[in-house]
Amino acid sequence: MARVALVTGGMGGLGEAICIKMVALGYKVVTTYSPSNKTHESWLATMKDQGYNFTAYPCDVSDFDSAATCIAAVERDIGPVDVLVNNAGITRDMTFKKMDKVNWDAVMKTNLDSVFNMTKPVADGMVDRGWGRIINISSVNGQKGAFGQTNYSAAKAGVHGFTKALALEVARKGVTVNTISPGYIGTKMVMEIPKDVLDSKIIPQIPMARLGKPEEVAGLVAYLASDEAAFLTGANIAINGGQHMS
Ligand code: NDP
Repeated sequence: MARVALVTGGMGGLGEAICIKMVALGYKVVTTYSPSNKTHESWLATMKDQGYNFTAYPCDVSDFDSAATCIAAVERDIGPVDVLVNNAGITRDMTFKKMDKVNWDAVMKTNLDSVFNMTKPVADGMVDRGWGRIINISSVNGQKGAFGQTNYSAAKAGVHGFTKALALEVARKGVTVNTISPGYIGTKMVMEIPKDVLDSKIIPQIPMARLGKPEEVAGLVAYLASDEAAFLTGANIAINGGQHMS
């Protein structure tokens, strides 16, 4: 029977590529969209026109109850979640001098609390069934820090702390937990950076002299989700064109 993969934020740049890769590999792919998202129906229709059938549920990943309601609906309608990809995230960049509590909290809740909120309702089931994959999308900026991102760097570094601790707890139960830390990938989030900043400040930091492709990250997600990756847990896999090696 096809495994169920739940990808949060699947309608965004990276998430869409992950959904497409996973459905192509035969998973039943479920994604989420923010309750305020007005374009989810057109995204689903566009994907369907391209031959991809996804199911989508509203979910505010930053809210514990919303996450629990979403997972309950997925398990009722589709089946238990075998692969969880915690991909939804936001940035609210500003120097620490300007950083206020609202923008600190928004990033911590959406990028870090979300990992707890979505993992909590699925982890016990994975352990009971003896198989599961939790894949957390962090960032190179969680590994090395970034100017103007005290909130984002802290949240993304926290994601890997979560990964390592949970990986230990479920290691004997057939469940792996891993972090992927992408560098700059050519998605909407990155393309919103002004072109002159991209060309003068960002690309020169990348030894491969280009942005990554969403499909390259999706391929790594697919590997971590596979049976072949059963011995790989608690890792933080950098995929950044050589920008940061740790
Ligand atoms: P996008 O902005 O394209 O997509 C982000 C997704 O997150 C959207 O689908 C959005 O859904 C969803 N989302 C945001 N807030 C919430 C919320 N409260 N509840 C539910 N869903 C939410 O970003 P990317 O695809 O570029 O990024 C995906 C992940 O990869 C993020 O975690 C990001 O930090 C990380 N990353 C990205 C890099 C890049 O270069 N692009 C580099 C390193 C890490 P909706 O539109 O419905 O709100």
